[in-house]
Amino acid sequence: MTNSTSFDILIVGQGIAGTILSYKLKKAGYSILVVDESKKDSASKVAAGLYNPVVLKRFSKIWKADELSETATTFYKEFESVLKEQFDIQSPVHRVFHNDDEKKKWLELANTDYKDHLSANINSTPNGIIGEHGVAKVYNTGWLDTETMLSAYRTYLKANHILIEEAFDPNELELTDESVKWKDYTFKKLIFCQGPDGLTNPYFNYLPLKQTKGELITIKCEGLNLNHIIKGDPFIIPIGNDLYRVGATFNWIEKDTAPSEEGLQELKDKLKKLLSLPYTVIERRAGLRPTVKDRRALIGFHPNYKNIGIFNGMGTRGVLLAPYLANMFVDSIKNGTELNTEVDIKRYQEEFRASLP
Ligand SMILES: Cc1cc2nc3c(=O)[nH]c(=O)nc-3n(C[C@H](O)[C@H](O)[C@H](O)COP(=O)(O)OP(=O)(O)OC[C@H]3O[C@@H](n4cnc5c(N)ncnc54)[C@H](O)[C@@H]3O)c2cc1C
Repeated sequence: MTNSTSFDILIVGQGIAGTILSYKLKKAGYSILVVDESKKDSASKVAAGLYNPVVLKRFSKIWKADELSETATTFYKEFESVLKEQFDIQSPVHRVFHNDDEKKKWLELANTDYKDHLSANINSTPNGIIGEHGVAKVYNTGWLDTETMLSAYRTYLKANHILIEEAFDPNELELTDESVKWKDYTFKKLIFCQGPDGLTNPYFNYLPLKQTKGELITIKCEGLNLNHIIKGDPFIIPIGNDLYRVGATFNWIEKDTAPSEEGLQELKDKLKKLLSLPYTVIERRAGLRPTVKDRRALIGFHPNYKNIGIFNGMGTRGVLLAPYLANMFVDSIKNGTELNTEVDIKRYQEEFRASLP
């Protein structure tokens, strides 16, 4: 570990959010220390890693689709070269059409506002995939091999002696106006990037963070021979050697990370309508997404403790959101620029006041 005891910023959590924020802070010239307890079922490790700037259920662009897409593409390319690993697997998504109305709506958009994102060429449904209305391609899509990225960054942090692998207890903090003290270390700021575990954070428990369980399966399916992602309900991502990742479920009630029989059955029932070939389930994973009531991230510093911050609420789209939002947060820390009001935790000022004794 590090010999130094004084850093600019302490980052708690090394999921997608903490990884990208800490890297960007370091690049901006801040000295950082990262603490992470390395949970095997964290959202980022379980995530399918799919990125796609269009909501394929109703054909609408996601929030800031173009900026997010551009920033993410540039960032992951740079990050791969710094970490000397490949984890951004660019691959077209093929949307399966359910009926002619969907196809008509798609073609209208593909020829007008969405021509940078949707292809106007309709192809026949690939062998093994059920659907008589064909498929069409979405551009600027792929999947991030998050486990490879997180593990490569962990190695990088260790090599730089700036990672502590343990559970961080906020009760051990000593705060002054200028500094944050934890154990033998002193920091100017601390930023919590705890994902779904942020729910129990004593500084930010007034924020409407929620945990939304999701489950995925990995199947082996010989003869499917897909070399692109299929978006039906569910999605099917080819990961090599006849293996495919299939998901994901949404469960707003369960709060654990154990794969469930109900989750498995739901995915199998849906696959029955999408896949005509036999398959075997090889692996089951479940995790909790850090979602927010208004579907926007939670970024900023505590109303009373000005050096305690949060970078959370990446919801269902951490892969696309984190690079763009990390840029915004670093810019605000370094240059005092305002955060976008839709993601700034100042929008929950009322809730904060109501939480005070
Ligand atoms: C089934 C499923 C499928 C998904 N699919 C996709 C997808 O296809 N595309 C996409 O973009 N997103 C997807 N997501 C969402 C994505 O996973 C999240 O948006 C993202 O991973 C959130 O990252 P995070 O860093 O905020 O949280 P996390 O990944 O949970 O990271 C938080 C980290 O903080 C650590 N931590 C927390 N508290 C402490 C503490 N007290 N001390 C030390 N360490 C601590 C944890 O160990 C963890 O490593 C999916 C999520 C699930 C569950």
